Amino acid sequence: MTVKIGVIGTGAIGQDHTRRINQVLAGAKVVAVNDVNRDNAQACVTAFAPEATIFDDPIALINDPGVDAVLVCSWGQTHEEYVLATIAAGKPCFCEKPLATTAQGAENIVKAEVAAGKRLVQVGFMRRYDPGYLALRHAVQNVTGAPLMVHAAHRNQRVGTNYTTPMAIHDTLIHEIDVLRWLLDDDYVSAQVFFPRKSPRAHEKLRDPQVVVLETKKGVVIDVEVFVNCHYGYDIQCEIVGEDGIAKLPEPMSVQTRSNAMLSNPILTDWKDRFIDSYDYELADFLKAAAKGTAAGPSSWDGYVAAVTADACVSAQEQEGVPVRIALPERPALYA
Ligand code: NAP
Repeated sequence: MTVKIGVIGTGAIGQDHTRRINQVLAGAKVVAVNDVNRDNAQACVTAFAPEATIFDDPIALINDPGVDAVLVCSWGQTHEEYVLATIAAGKPCFCEKPLATTAQGAENIVKAEVAAGKRLVQVGFMRRYDPGYLALRHAVQNVTGAPLMVHAAHRNQRVGTNYTTPMAIHDTLIHEIDVLRWLLDDDYVSAQVFFPRKSPRAHEKLRDPQVVVLETKKGVVIDVEVFVNCHYGYDIQCEIVGEDGIAKLPEPMSVQTRSNAMLSNPILTDWKDRFIDSYDYELADFLKAAAKGTAAGPSSWDGYVAAVTADACVSAQEQEGVPVRIALPERPALYA
């Protein structure tokens, strides 16, 4: 069976996922696209999906009988509406992060999916599919003993002037919020934020770098450095300290050179290259489940927990050094 896919939002990631579905993965085909920016939709069709129809209305795309499943890759503010419409149509939906831009929006999606009675949504937390993080999770479960602490870092070369201090949480830290919870099989109870001396490379209104400290239900203390003007590369670090040992996220594979009295490894600069395989694996997982009319992988509940945690972190930014409590309702049985 070929799963017929509709893509809403054909900017950077929407086009890349269309390429992936039509040129890399088996079992699915992009048959419909939509974007408020029609030039983007046309560019996507021309480059990666010459047989796809361009829809002017995203809701018409979702409800079209020729579309079996939907990818929501548009601007974050629109995700809630499109995911809810896809659930209402009874179709599987892959939603890029964030699931919604507010915790209330994510909760609305959880409630709609629970009412539908089956998993229909996968959230684009692709790090769970990264071979390095999977190996790290295996080490945490089999080698390090129970985790005590986590030291992590999320560093970008630079960001534009439209990037704000809360975006360091909602757009950047959000990946650590999800993947660390998954690695530790734990939930957060509090968040605290500290701002060191500001980097002179950060624009006037941006506070950068920052350190976010999260505490989990099991008592693990996590520190994550978020530094989005680090200048030297795109660098993701994660080290778990357990009762019996330490496990560290492997560096991406690269050729090591010896030359001019130097031993060197390159550092990546583009986030697209750092997790390139994980995007393939997460979509393959989505397509496999979508062929059966359901969804797998990171769930709406995971998207909701990430949204609640992110809100607490932003509140912690506003009251530097003060721990902000994170309270979650009981997890619905659908996500057990
Ligand atoms: P982008 O290049 O700006 O593309 C977004 C596209 O959606 C643009 O074509 C935009 O049109 C369009 N759009 C805006 N409002 C819309 C609406 N109401 N209906 C339909 N389309 C609309 O952004 P991107 O980098 O692809 O990011 C898209 C989403 O993916 C974001 O939520 C982002 O956080 C997420 N993302 C996730 C990852 C990851 O690692 N998982 C990586 C990158 C992005 P205009 O050009 O006219 O604004």
